[in-house]
Amino acid sequence: MREDGRRIVCFIGIGSNLADPVSNCLESIDRIAAFARSKITGRSSLYRTEPVGMPDQDWFVNCVVEIETRFKASTLLDILQKIENDMGRLRKDRWGPRTIDLDILLYGQEIIIEDNLIIPHPELHKRRFVLVPMCEIAPYAIHPSYGISMMGLLNRLEDLNAVELITLGPSICR
Ligand code: ADP
Ligand code: MG
Repeated sequence: MREDGRRIVCFIGIGSNLADPVSNCLESIDRIAAFARSKITGRSSLYRTEPVGMPDQDWFVNCVVEIETRFKASTLLDILQKIENDMGRLRKDRWGPRTIDLDILLYGQEIIIEDNLIIPHPELHKRRFVLVPMCEIAPYAIHPSYGISMMGLLNRLEDLNAVELITLGPSICR
């Protein structure tokens, strides 16, 4: 728990490209709400995205959720890694296929540089598959290291990998 007990607005990037990626992403959001005891205050649409870094694999499904949490960032990372493990993620290649990937993108306006935790996430400003869903739910959120909004970062972006909106039927929407 944070020492001051205050809630922090935090953005989590979610990605999956194994088994049923849409279900994996939706299940991970339920697990975040349950295990991180955090209120989900925003959720982007789901996007089908071209893999970056290791092209010879299935396309990903990505989204971003906004939560309010009282946990310290390092505790939140532990919780997200536990969810990844519980959902059967095996850590192999850095950019390779994964059942679920949960990254802390922003934690309030804090800048954290530790051995196993860097916030803002070091790839946030470089990736279309993160900035498109971020801009859907928080276009004016500021990247604290650059002082530029998510929309500003998206406009400056050089990443040309495809990011396509997924429209879900009513039975799967929740
Ligand atoms: P990636 O998400 O970069 O594809 P992994 O999910 O395998 O790779 O994460 C590798 C490591 O990145 C994790 O063990 C974690 O300690 C570290 N890490 C550093 N900063 C963050 C962050 N902001 N969110 C999540 N993991 C992070
Ligand atoms: Mg990760």
